[in-house]
Amino acid sequence: MTTIHIIGGGLAGTEAAWQCLNADRDLKVRLYEMRPKKMTAAHQSGDLAELVCSNSLKSTLTDSAPGLLKREMEIFNSLVIREAKLASVPAGQALAVERTLFSQGIQKSLSEFANFERVDEEIQTLPSKEELEKSGDVWIVASGPLTSDSLATSLQELAPEGKRLHFYDAIAPVLEMDSIDTEIAFKQSRYEEGYEGDYWNVPLNKEEYYAFVEAVRTAEYMPLHEFEDVKYFEACLPIEVMIERGKETLRFGPMKPVGLTDPRTGNWPYAAIQLRQENKHGSMVSMVGFQTKMKWPEQKRIFQMIPALRDADFFRYGSVHRNTYLKSPDVLESDLSFKTNPRIFLAGQISGVEGYTESAAMGLLAGRAAAARALGKTFEMPPQECMIGALKHYVTEGGLGVFSPMNTNLGLLPRVPKRRDVSKVDRKKEQARLARETFDTYVGIKTESRAAHFEVEQPTI
Ligand SMILES: Cc1cc2nc3c(=O)[nH]c(=O)nc-3n(C[C@H](O)[C@H](O)[C@H](O)COP(=O)(O)OP(=O)(O)OC[C@H]3O[C@@H](n4cnc5c(N)ncnc54)[C@H](O)[C@@H]3O)c2cc1C
Repeated sequence: MTTIHIIGGGLAGTEAAWQCLNADRDLKVRLYEMRPKKMTAAHQSGDLAELVCSNSLKSTLTDSAPGLLKREMEIFNSLVIREAKLASVPAGQALAVERTLFSQGIQKSLSEFANFERVDEEIQTLPSKEELEKSGDVWIVASGPLTSDSLATSLQELAPEGKRLHFYDAIAPVLEMDSIDTEIAFKQSRYEEGYEGDYWNVPLNKEEYYAFVEAVRTAEYMPLHEFEDVKYFEACLPIEVMIERGKETLRFGPMKPVGLTDPRTGNWPYAAIQLRQENKHGSMVSMVGFQTKMKWPEQKRIFQMIPALRDADFFRYGSVHRNTYLKSPDVLESDLSFKTNPRIFLAGQISGVEGYTESAAMGLLAGRAAAARALGKTFEMPPQECMIGALKHYVTEGGLGVFSPMNTNLGLLPRVPKRRDVSKVDRKKEQARLARETFDTYVGIKTESRAAHFEVEQPTI
């Protein structure tokens, strides 16, 4: 009997275990969880699938990215979504859970399999390629953002050459390109007046700049967890830390206006924010050098003070927090296995996603792919035009910018062109409809019947 060893009994690890157990009764699954013997700095218990913070798995609306992802996971027989629905508490259009009930449900469902075993142990090193070829076993690493130090060292060996394992993220907001006012923002690379450059530049006059600086200075910030002792790299300081050094610092850093000629005035603006394309189809742009720990509503309020960003839609907000993750596009194959050791798979937050559902989604795919490898079969990954496929595609292929953890969002899907006669809401609905259609075709179900099934029997997802 082939054994699949899974490191980490969090959202990704438990979902992966479930997918493996359901793939074939002849597969044995050993799930290693170091808690409660060795706790992380954020977990409170020894429970499987403990939600470390909020109890919400976000929206269930199938026109939203989180809703689409849940829908696809549910069709894939996701344990996390099933147990979340069983443990749900009223939360409007969000899927929120009673966390203890949720964890118990996960634990119980897995324990019902005779070939499942939970092992209370910290795994410190990973087996070599030769060892795994000999035994035929398969491993899934789903040890999360707070992976133990010794395992992190072992992962570094699996991802050699350069710095591919990160311990903190420093994320700049990502905006929807179509929500930016291009009557004000202009396209130009620095010192290349007269040519259409690669960057969009958002100009600010003197008054707008100082109002912006003051708003950031007095904004509300995400509190640091006690285990977070962030030592910032000079190259990626949060904007608020730069402002602490002086009101002008941003104008000599990420808001430097030199060499950017605003076609409306013929002059360099007082300050400018540069937006860099994030994905090939151009629907996402990131605010270059704008990593921040401001609370999300504050980011929306303050960035929307800037005229060209007045209607900006955020695909991802900025953040800086403790987060172990690998630069997956460099180290993983498209099926989430390691290039250097194809019998080891990576899943969950450590693979470069952000969020409970996203982590479980990568556990789901890694579980299916690992089970297929153990059985000598192949698993066809979902196409990048559906939500789970788009997220997986980001993990293994990356975007155009620096790779950093990503939450699920519609910007990962193909762009539906902006049209004057189609509202923003309808454009997003169309994007979601196409994603649903793609996924349904991939799994071989008729969209009509599936849609009806969801509306009648499972109205929330
Ligand atoms: C403080 C904090 C708050 C967060 N809040 C939210 C939130 O509110 N909403 C949201 O959507 N996301 C949140 N996240 C992000 C993320 O969604 C969660 O961390 C999520 O739990 C990730 O799922 P995972 O399965 O990848 O990792 P985890 O759920 O963390 O599971 C990994 C498991 O591996 C175990 N482990 C680690 N190393 C070893 C080892 N060597 N051997 C054996 N076991 C090991 C850990 O004990 C842990 O149980 C938060 C993250 C952190 C750190």
